[in-house]
Amino acid sequence: MSDHDLRPKAPQVSDMLGRPLRDLRISLTDHCNFRCVYCMPKAVFGTRYRFVDHAGLLTFEEIERLVRLFAQLGVGKLRLTGGEPLLRPHIEDLIAALVAVPGIEDIAVTTNGSLLTAKKAKALKDAGLRRVTISIDSLSDETYQAMNDVGFPVEKVLQAIDHAEAAGLPVKLNMVVRRGLNDQDIVPMAERFRHTPHVLRFIEYMDVGNMNGWRPEDVVPSREIMARIGERWPLEPLEPSRYGEVASRYGYKDGQGEIGFISSVSQPFCQTCTRARLSPEGTLYTCLFGTSGKDLRELLRGGARDDEILGTLKQVWGSREDRYSELRSLLRGRGSGQKVEMFHIGG
Ligand code: SAM
Ligand code: SF4
Ligand code: SF4
Repeated sequence: MSDHDLRPKAPQVSDMLGRPLRDLRISLTDHCNFRCVYCMPKAVFGTRYRFVDHAGLLTFEEIERLVRLFAQLGVGKLRLTGGEPLLRPHIEDLIAALVAVPGIEDIAVTTNGSLLTAKKAKALKDAGLRRVTISIDSLSDETYQAMNDVGFPVEKVLQAIDHAEAAGLPVKLNMVVRRGLNDQDIVPMAERFRHTPHVLRFIEYMDVGNMNGWRPEDVVPSREIMARIGERWPLEPLEPSRYGEVASRYGYKDGQGEIGFISSVSQPFCQTCTRARLSPEGTLYTCLFGTSGKDLRELLRGGARDDEILGTLKQVWGSREDRYSELRSLLRGRGSGQKVEMFHIGG
C-alpha cells in the first residue's frame, strides 16, 4: 500500500468538513429474521412493529439508477446491508446490475449468515460480489442464541463462513462486544479465527437508534479487547488499506492472521467518514446516527430528471456537518431528537 492510496482522490463533492463522498451503504430491507438484543430487541420489534412494506421498498431499478448518480459524484464502494439483506429475493440480480455501473469498484454484503447456503454463496460470487462480512458474536451456542434471540444455532453460521470461503469470497467477521454478555468470548473467537484468512473485527457496542438500552458501561473499549488478545498472542499495528477505513488493523506478530477494531465509541473516526447511507424506502442519511434524511424515492417516483437528483445529492452532501461519535457525550446529554434505527439505515 503506497501513501498515495491513503490520500483521498480528488473529490467530486465535499462536505462542510472537507470530506469526500466515497462509499454508499444501501439497506435493502429493514426486515430481519434475527432479533439481536443490541439491534432489534424483541420487546420493541415484535409483531406490532411496522416495517417498510413491499411497495415502499426501492426497486432494484431505482437502486441502480441512484447508484449510477452516486458513482458520478465519486462513490466507488458499495455495501449492501439491512436488516438482513439476503431476505431480499434475487439479490444477486441487483449485484450483477451494480457491478456493471461505471466507477463502481467494490461491492460487499454484510449478513448474519443465516441464509448463506453454498448455492447462495456461489450465486453471489458469480454475480460479481467482491467480499462478504458475516456477523458472529460468539462461538458458544448458548451465548450466540441469547444474542440473536431467535434460537439460531452458531453451527449454522460457521457453515455459512465455510460456504463463503468455498465460493471464493473473502470473508470478514463482525463481533459486537457487549460487556457481561459476550466479552468472555473475545479470546476464544480470536483463537478460532487465527490461522484462517478471515479477518475478525471487534466492534464497540454503539448507541445506535433509540431502543437498545445502551449504557456507556456496557461498552468494552478496543484497547481492553486488544490487551486481552495481545497478552496471549502479541499484536502489531498494520497500515490502513485505504483512506476512510473504519477498522484499525492489527496483525499477530507470529504471522498467524489479522484482526481489526472498530472503535466508534472510544476513538471516533468521523474526520475521515466518507459514507452515505440509503434506507430501504430511499431516504438518504449522511450519518449512522442521523435524525433526519432526504427522501429520494419521492424524486424518483415523481419523475425527477437525473440532473435534478444529482443536484439534490450534491446539495445534501455539500451541507453535511455530521460527526456524532465525536460529539457523543454532548449530544446524548441534550436528548437531541430521535435517531434512525441501525437496522433501518444499515450497519
Ligand atoms: N443483518 C446483517 C448483520 O447482522 O450482519 C446486516 C445488518 S447489521 C445492522 C450490520 C452490523 O451492525 C452487524 O455486524 C451488527 O452486528 C452491527 N450492529 C448492530 N447493532 C449494533 C450496535 N448497537 N453496536 C455495534 N454494532 C452493531
Ligand atoms: Fe438483524 Fe443484523 Fe440487527 Fe441482528 S444485527 S437484528 S441480524 S439487522
Ligand atoms: Fe460517520 Fe456519523 Fe459515524 Fe461519525 S458518527 S463516523 S460521521 S457515521
